[in-house]
Amino acid sequence: MKKILIIEDEFHIADGIKLNLELCGYKCFTANTGNDGLKKLNTHKPDLVILDLMLPDKDGVEILKKIRSDDRFFPVLILSARGEVEDRKLGFIFGCDDYMSKPFDLEELELRVKRLLFRYEDSNEHGEFFEFGRNRIDFRKRIAITENQEISLTEQELNILKYLFSNSGKPVTREEILINALGYEVDVQSRTIDNFIVRFRKYFEKNPKKPKFFKSIRSVGYMFDLNE
Ligand code: CA
Repeated sequence: MKKILIIEDEFHIADGIKLNLELCGYKCFTANTGNDGLKKLNTHKPDLVILDLMLPDKDGVEILKKIRSDDRFFPVLILSARGEVEDRKLGFIFGCDDYMSKPFDLEELELRVKRLLFRYEDSNEHGEFFEFGRNRIDFRKRIAITENQEISLTEQELNILKYLFSNSGKPVTREEILINALGYEVDVQSRTIDNFIVRFRKYFEKNPKKPKFFKSIRSVGYMFDLNE
């Protein structure tokens, strides 16, 4: 079970998030001050931190820096009231993190948590290479080596491939791919994903019309399949 630490001084917000995320199957801890947050970071070893920027005893940015100094990619979701921090500073601080301004939607928070955890886990567990059939994906060099050619892959292509590989043998919907791999909200045209799949089949399948790996699953979406 994934553990989440919520550092937030407003009790009703902290408890609301906790309740909601526990219903989604996460184990949550709350801390209502910055110092308590730092303490619980050590004792509970969470997989993700939800961090309010304005805390009574500490600036949330300080806590973020502490987390970053231990692990540059550790997932942190920042909460802040609109207008608390100037835009320029935000861009600087949040670079690879996610940010939500209050008031926020709990369902959206849950989606963002899921995505941050997925990305982190993925970057840790997927080494540099992934092979299927006669294809090899080199994530570090961002290329695919197929039977006939070498293709440079875009960031979006790499993210979708990673998502499909980590769900291999499991049907996934277009919406799931959009949200988890590309970070889009659901109202984006789902044809976007179809276009990527067409491209992957052209790159990696012997016969793109009869795909062995990038299969269509009727009324669901797609499935990456390793068992031909
Ligand atoms: Ca606060």
